[in-house]
Amino acid sequence: MLILGATGSIGASTLKVLRNNPEAYDLYGVTGARNVAAMLDICREFSPQYAVMADPASNMALMDALRNEQLSTEVLAGEQAIAELAKAEAVDLVMAAIVGAAGLLPTLAAVEAGKTVLLANKEALVMSGAIFMDAAARSGAQILPVDSEHNAIFQCMPQAIQQALGHCDLQQAGVSKILLTGSGGPFRYHSIDALPVVSPAEACAHPNWSMGQKISVDSATMMNKGLEYIEAKRLFNTQPKQIEVIIHPQSIIHSMVQYCDGSVLAQMGQPDMATPIAHVMAYPQRITSGVEPLDFFSLGELSFIPPDFSRYPCLKLAIDACYDSQTATTCLNAANEIAVAAFLAGRIKFTQIAQVVAACLDGLDYLGSETELSVLLEVDQRARVQASAVVKRICG
Ligand code: NAD
Ligand code: MG
Repeated sequence: MLILGATGSIGASTLKVLRNNPEAYDLYGVTGARNVAAMLDICREFSPQYAVMADPASNMALMDALRNEQLSTEVLAGEQAIAELAKAEAVDLVMAAIVGAAGLLPTLAAVEAGKTVLLANKEALVMSGAIFMDAAARSGAQILPVDSEHNAIFQCMPQAIQQALGHCDLQQAGVSKILLTGSGGPFRYHSIDALPVVSPAEACAHPNWSMGQKISVDSATMMNKGLEYIEAKRLFNTQPKQIEVIIHPQSIIHSMVQYCDGSVLAQMGQPDMATPIAHVMAYPQRITSGVEPLDFFSLGELSFIPPDFSRYPCLKLAIDACYDSQTATTCLNAANEIAVAAFLAGRIKFTQIAQVVAACLDGLDYLGSETELSVLLEVDQRARVQASAVVKRICG
């Protein structure tokens, strides 16, 4: 097994599942970006064969530290090495848990090499769409969704759909709708007028889930649900009427599938990513995840609210982009990454994230074929440049 993004939040949950199943998996490689201390801990505990840090100085520091402690893990150099690991013969399972667009090329390399790809890095799928799913169909790579909602939906789908992700026919399988649930984030009960002054720390304090900073801010704006809407469209090949977003503040139901006979299947569990991770690592078998079982008597009430686009303009932008074009979703994702980084750095207000993304979508000029990765990478780059310019203008 290979873990791309081993030093992050999903990486940590994956390692927790490995810790619970020490005999079942062989950790071949791990990658990170800058957190040398976290990577060193992983090497001490799990002795992977290879490790890579995307940042060259961090890679050197890791190499020195491993040598000092006489640990056996070999450090490979450079970003190219990350993609090489993703294609390595010895690897069967690839956990794709790098955050953002940086994960695209290594994740795509794993897909093209026909690996079983445990997909957490939703941005990779959002920015490359059909290219990603077509590459999987060509290579025979099995994509297994880690994102808790898509994992829930996957678990509630019949096998015919599970085996034909990206090219499945929901109607033929008797599915009428995917009910995509989301907690609504930390500001679901705030007055909308107070949203311009919320701080990065408040935005990152998710009420139910502990996650990396970027996805925590995305959850607060519900851009995360928007990206997940696009992710669901790509994985389950949906038509517009086949997905509905429902706010479910308790995060106990992780999403549902409604069938044409009126049945609704829901997947439930604690809000702990180790559950969907254990599911994809063992699929179609089951393994223990280390997560406590649900205690229904202590749950209290489960509630459901329709999303309000005036509170969550990013969700609306993402749904519109989803039905506009692939270039629009690529642009949306790139602009959002820049806007979130600017918000976390204290440069723009929370409510200006949506403004930056909207401005970039407005300025999007179509560049050519949506089926070419080079075109989408160009759209991504241009959107980043434009989003940075909008941020600069806002800052004065
Ligand atoms: P994180 O910030 O905690 O970790 C990100 C990982 O990516 C780290 O290992 C980091 O070193 C690595 N990384 C960052 N920049 C890199 C670069 N330029 N090159 C190579 N590696 C780089 O993020 P996370 O919360 O673990 O999320 C990871 C992915 O999983 C995201 O796409 C997120 O949307 C998705 N996801 C996360 C959760 C969650 O609960 N955390 C749930 C669902 C989906
Ligand atoms: Mg999710």
